[in-house]
Order: sequence, then structure tokens, then C-alpha cells
Amino acid sequence: MADLTLKALDKQYGAFHAVKGIDLVVEDGEFVALVGPSGCGKSTTLRMIAGLEDISGGDICIGTRVVNDLPPRSRNISMVFQSYALYPHMTVGENMGFSLKIAGKDQATIKAAVDKAATILEIEQLLDRRPAQLSGGQRQRVAMGRAIVRDPDVFLFDEPLSNLDAKLRGQMRTEIKRLHARLAATIIYVTHDQVEAMTLADRIVIMRDGNIEQVGTPDQVFNRPASQFVAGFIGSPPMNMVEARVTGQSLKFPDDTTIPLPSAFAYLADGRKVIFGLRPDDIYPDGHGIDTSAGRDVTVLDLMVNLSEPLGNETLLFAGFGGAEWTSRMLNPREVRRGTQLSFRLDLAKAHLFDAETGDTLR
Ligand code: ATP
Repeated sequence: MADLTLKALDKQYGAFHAVKGIDLVVEDGEFVALVGPSGCGKSTTLRMIAGLEDISGGDICIGTRVVNDLPPRSRNISMVFQSYALYPHMTVGENMGFSLKIAGKDQATIKAAVDKAATILEIEQLLDRRPAQLSGGQRQRVAMGRAIVRDPDVFLFDEPLSNLDAKLRGQMRTEIKRLHARLAATIIYVTHDQVEAMTLADRIVIMRDGNIEQVGTPDQVFNRPASQFVAGFIGSPPMNMVEARVTGQSLKFPDDTTIPLPSAFAYLADGRKVIFGLRPDDIYPDGHGIDTSAGRDVTVLDLMVNLSEPLGNETLLFAGFGGAEWTSRMLNPREVRRGTQLSFRLDLAKAHLFDAETGDTLR
């Protein structure tokens, strides 16, 4: 395995600037997820690393090798796609060993590599089947087996689970995580699913319009987002965000209601326009959230529940306040009907404030 470095990596499609000179170091054995909205440049970045797309500027280094001009097969990278692209007329074993056969390896070497990968993925019993005789999850495992067999320096995954149903996706996610632990592989994983990124990755790279908006551990991007964009992208359901104006030691919302200014932001100048952000976990009906010890930065509001979504282990409540609709996550739920008036606690110590013009996080 090896580390991977992108230096001012750039891609232009004619006049369109798809990737704008990004810098990133992926450490040896690290699992990095690239996330961001559709069109932000994730797949283009991955395809440039793989050598499937020419670069317009910058450098791609694997270990100490600059691979900019190497063809894909010489980069020692394996890529797993969302469409598994297995050869239908070959058995699973032949599919997995094909790249080694092309590379001119002998039968015994190929068999040993295929058997080893099959053991890791627990698909030994499938080696003589053809792709048509496999389930979606099994096909995905074979596609991963094919990547493992090549013993690459770096694995690239391009939305590998997006063709699977929700339950299988969850199972395969766990398998990929286990696989990473066993192989100690360097992995770059593109997904638009932030839950997948949060659960799998050591670090998450959030892209926006061809730039990197933030790089951080799941904990950092969730709890210390660099911008309103990251805060809105990471977390499900998304963070509540409402425009507000600092008025003395209060925040005034568009409908003229106010809450206390969170004490961490007491320094903000009167009149400053901000975006107030609070995760659904940090606004909850009295007695249904985290214990709030005395002296904590909390405010209580009586709100009417507009809608209630029971999910079993939790219930999402929607309530209007400050000219917006807020989502609240109620753990250990009890039944709440719409139209009920409830006392909600806002944990202001967890509030995020963003500059209303730039979207930058205020600290
Ligand atoms: P998605 O999640 O939808 O796959 P993405 O973040 O992977 O999105 P890319 O596929 O990297 O996005 O595309 C980045 C931008 O580059 C998009 O605006 C896309 O339309 C554009 N683009 C991609 N390939 C080409 C091409 N061959 N010619 C011109 N523009 C392209």
C-alpha cells in the first residue's frame, strides 16, 4: 500500500472548470470519502486518479511516483464501480483472476490470489458460478474480489453501493468497513450518501463546485463544520438553519421572535446578520433529550407540533418558530399528535452561527 497526494489537481472540460486545483494527502492505509452534491467534481477527481481522465494541471503522486502520465494499468490502482461490469461468460473465479491472467501471471499464482481474496470476502463457494447466478450483493462482493486480487497500492470506489436496496447497502457497508480493517488498504470512496461517508471513512472530504470545502474526521465535520454548506450537507435530518440578527444579547428572527444569544457568541456586534443553526438532536421536547445540567445554555419554547413522524426508536417532530419550520428529534418517543402544544428545549451550547453573507462558521 501507499499514500496518495494530489497537488493543485485541476480539470477543465473546455471552458468548464470541473476541479479547481485541489490539494489532498491520503495517508497510507487511510479510508477517505469524497462527498458533495451532484456535479461537484467527485467522480472527475476519482477518474483522474485512476487515469481514466486526463488532468488539466497539477500532480497525482502514489508514494513517491508521479503518475500523471501513466496509463491506468500502470498505476497499480483498483477501481470498484457501481455497475459491477463482470464478464457474463466467465465464472466468478475467472472474473476475479482475469487481470492477473492479462498481466501474464501463471495459473498457480492466479489461483492462490483468487482463493485468498475469496476467503477474505467469504465467497469461496461461489467461485464456479457465473454472474447471472448471483444476487446483487454477491456480485458486488465479486467486484471487490476482483479489485483485491490485484493487490493494488490504492483502492478507488465510485458509489459502489448505489445499485443495492437499503438493507443490502447497510450490510455491504459493514463488509467494506471490515475489509478495510483486514487489508489496511488506502481507500478513496466517492459517495453522495453522507451516512455512508460518516460510517466508513477515517476522514471526509466535502467538495463544492470543484473545490474542497472542508477535510476532517466524521466528528470534526459534524460537530465543527467549517461553513453553512458543510453543516447543511452533513447530518440527517439536516441542521435547522434560520436567518437572525444579533439584537443586544438576543437573536431576533424574521418574525420578530427572539431567543437568548448563545453565550459563546456574546462578543458579536449588535445588528450583525447571521444564520442560526441547531441540529434536530439539540432541540427536543422537555424530558426527551439529553440531561441538561443547571447553568447550561438552554432556552425553553412552547411550540405547536405541526407534524409528527414516528420512526420506532425515535420520532421526528416539526414545529414552527422564528418564521421557519424546525425539526426536532425525540429519543425514547411517546406518541405526539399534530396540533399538540409542547415545551421544547433548545440546547444553545450546541448552536452554530454562520456569517449571513459568506456562510463561514463563526466561532
Ligand atoms: P455525481 O454525484 O452526479 O456523479 P460528481 O460530483 O461526481 O456528480 P462529476 O461527474 O465529477 O460530478 O462532474 C463534475 C462536473 O463536470 C459536472 O458539472 C459535469 O457536468 C461536468 N462534466 C463531467 N464530465 C464531463 C465531460 N466529459 N465533459 C464536460 N463536462 C463534464
